[in-house]
Amino acid sequence: MRGLERARSFGFGALDRLRGSPVRRQIAELDAVDRMAPAERLRWQRERLAVILAHARDTTPFYRDRIPPHVDADTAPGVLVGLPIVDKHLIKDRFDEFVSAAFSRSALVGGHTNGSTGAPFPFFMDRRRRDRVRAETFFFGRWAGYHIGEPHVFLRLLFWHPKPAIVQLLENQLVLEPRALGSAEIDRLLDRIRRSKAVTLIGYPSILDLLARRRLETRRPASFPMRSAISIGEVLLPGARETIERGFGCPVFERYSATEVGYIAHDCEKHRLHQNVGSLWIELLPPDSCTVGTGTDEWRIVITDLFNRGMPFLRYELADRVIPDDRICSCGRTSPLLRSVLGRVSDRITLPDGRDIEATGLGGIFYDLTEIRQFQLVQTASDRYAIVVVPEPTFGDETRRAILRRAQSLLGDRAAVELSLVERIEPLPAGKHAYILSTVDRPGEGFSS
Ligand SMILES: [Zn+2]
Repeated sequence: MRGLERARSFGFGALDRLRGSPVRRQIAELDAVDRMAPAERLRWQRERLAVILAHARDTTPFYRDRIPPHVDADTAPGVLVGLPIVDKHLIKDRFDEFVSAAFSRSALVGGHTNGSTGAPFPFFMDRRRRDRVRAETFFFGRWAGYHIGEPHVFLRLLFWHPKPAIVQLLENQLVLEPRALGSAEIDRLLDRIRRSKAVTLIGYPSILDLLARRRLETRRPASFPMRSAISIGEVLLPGARETIERGFGCPVFERYSATEVGYIAHDCEKHRLHQNVGSLWIELLPPDSCTVGTGTDEWRIVITDLFNRGMPFLRYELADRVIPDDRICSCGRTSPLLRSVLGRVSDRITLPDGRDIEATGLGGIFYDLTEIRQFQLVQTASDRYAIVVVPEPTFGDETRRAILRRAQSLLGDRAAVELSLVERIEPLPAGKHAYILSTVDRPGEGFSS
């Protein structure tokens, strides 16, 4: 396999070179920023910040009159904090005002995200920023022992937008979709992972935990050549980290990312969560009285993307809450840390026949339905599910049918699915914005802490 891996790595490099090496150059820049002393890095960030602020002022309607005519590296941070904090609801409502006029829409890469709140959100990214996200994948992947071209397994639900086979082949990525999960399906998944000879396993911690438990229960032979597991999309609880480490015999790395702004923080070799200072300007703000889920330690996270010129994200607040960490990491990097990310938790959902379903991934089923402002899927009995939707003005029968069809195809014929429209979905206490939840009593394992 080594030869093939080298070929894949070479294949990726050759393609990138044909395009002028945009990804390779951005990996090099991320490396350089990573090595900078704090003062030098702050200077570099301020310069990037001044550039994106001037670009937003000149090309993006929302910022035209909000950013002064002269911004430089010295004044940029002050200008930034004078801007309003925006969130996905505001951007969605005034979408055209946030798209830069410097690009034609066809030159931009469109994306959709469901984020962690059950609120489908469309966005744009210019191609250079998309390449930087790819660069981030390789840059941070190395921290977790993964190198370009090596076999890895991605456990996630792709629903109706499968990744092209050629991309999977080139990246040496095997995508496995964990849908209904009874013991037989879990055993099949474990078997496919083992046969793939993957060195890295990427997935939601709840599913990695489920697989790891099964391995420990059945005492399967420890024939996994796994080098690392990467946890995405949900809070990685200490218990799950420990179970996954034992189950797969490898360290677990936490990855905190959002589709619209790329990588936000990543675990280093010492398992501390470093902020992505090479692409983002991150503000951590103390909770205020208007904010939900205000535990004393939970801070708001506000992101400014230093590179997305297609749709500048300036002071963009994510719904997550984080706990800051002012220590310096012993790995040698001086970039600031996060102690943990809170709030991305889902309850466990089961099918009428008792099999589990991967709940966080399940939330992705409506991610491209922008007629939904927000939704919540609640399991109310072993075979009953309620989908509660806050509609956009564009919501109509077609969207209603699409929601029910998709839900039914995942939950199966025996599931009774009910859809209701509401004006508002109340947040849950304790910073938990579960949009997938269960009110069915299930003593025991407690995935949903
Ligand atoms: Zn570190």
